[in-house]
Amino acid sequence: MALLVLKFGGTSVADLDRIRAAAKHIKREIDAGNQCAVVVSAMGDQTDHLVSWTREAAALHDAREYDVVVSTGEQVTCGLLSIILQNMGVPARSWLGWQLPIHTDGAHGAARILDIETDQLKSRLKNGEVAVVPGFQGRSPDGRITTLGRGGSDTSAVALAAALGADRCDIYTDVDGIYTGDPRIVPHARRLDKISYEEMLETASLGAKVLQTRSVQLAMVHQVRLLVRSSFESADGKQDDGGHTGTLVCDEDEIVEQQVVSGIAYTKDEAKVTLIGVEDKPGVAARVFGPLADASINVDMIVQNVSGDGETTDLTFTVSAADLDRALDVLQKVKAELAYEDLRGSTEIVKVSVIGIGMRSHAGVASQMFKALADKGINIEAISTSEIKISVLIDAAYAELAVRTLHSLYGLDNA
Ligand code: ADP
Ligand code: ASP
Ligand code: MG
Repeated sequence: MALLVLKFGGTSVADLDRIRAAAKHIKREIDAGNQCAVVVSAMGDQTDHLVSWTREAAALHDAREYDVVVSTGEQVTCGLLSIILQNMGVPARSWLGWQLPIHTDGAHGAARILDIETDQLKSRLKNGEVAVVPGFQGRSPDGRITTLGRGGSDTSAVALAAALGADRCDIYTDVDGIYTGDPRIVPHARRLDKISYEEMLETASLGAKVLQTRSVQLAMVHQVRLLVRSSFESADGKQDDGGHTGTLVCDEDEIVEQQVVSGIAYTKDEAKVTLIGVEDKPGVAARVFGPLADASINVDMIVQNVSGDGETTDLTFTVSAADLDRALDVLQKVKAELAYEDLRGSTEIVKVSVIGIGMRSHAGVASQMFKALADKGINIEAISTSEIKISVLIDAAYAELAVRTLHSLYGLDNA
């Protein structure tokens, strides 16, 4: 008997038939004698509609009211799933974020979970009742509804699993695990049986939206075993005896056969800013990045060109696409002080990354990457690295070509 947290994402609860299919997975676990807390997302793309309504209501709006609106999607799923489970003879009830409660900080729209009260839940679970909890939402210190940022239901599920001390957190989604590349653009991608927390953290933060980055951080810190699996597989005859498909996100030393590269990720969510003709002297970088930091704009990759004349240089860096207009605005305001010649911004770029824990002990991964991209005529505009990843910035038009080329290069293609 195990204590499980099961999370069902948007496509897995997109309509009543999908919710019934989710309920069958839950019933299978209950029938096997397990205790189940369930976290649900809003149905299909309901959250997108709710977000667009808030924008239509007023382009600039109160973030507290935004949260009131966008958190409702999960509440609908939560009630419907509870009704369907009860109708199948499975005792179940909904527990909204404020009822548990799930305490968060007050950063509306991007709140962080601080603590989840689980005493009531634990005794109900012991009696065989399924607790159905809406993902994505919490309660601020002053009692208002908060949301955790897009994709936040993953984080709700992992935080609940950590608070309950669950044996495992199953993330049911529309793919049957973590692949070596986004299966939507890499047809030959392979499913991984296991991936380490660190690799998953890089994969998520470098663009694979299959898990929210924060959820992987929490899983790593609290040692929650995460199993990413498909809700589209039949619930029948798949008793959890280890014979399930899916990808386990776990500690590195649980993975016997380590590969040098475990996957390729990409993101179109970044924008490039270029300052042309800035003075090449000490203190200039601080004068560029200081005002950006003051405006809470995160800078990712940075490249400073070698100065030809020793007097001026060009500086290129990336920010998230959502911050581009603000970043340009901030830099225009300090133009007199910085004395640059020109300022340019572009969203026609993509960041492609190669990830693998094996890179720590294996040389040559970067040079192979640069050569393969050069052979395809793809120009690299910026590079950044960490111990276990290499990212390059390239023209958006080459995104898919680059991802597929690198996927083959490192032998990841499914034969
Ligand atoms: P949910 O609605 O269940 O939260 P998401 O749409 O957020 O699901 O995440 C699942 C999607 O993540 C998949 O449909 C897939 O296209 C995408 N994805 C991106 N990169 C990967 C990857 N490396 N492995 C698996 N899925 C990936
Ligand atoms: N419904 C929310 C979103 O679409 C949270 C989630 O599904 O994870 O972002
Ligand atoms: Mg998701």
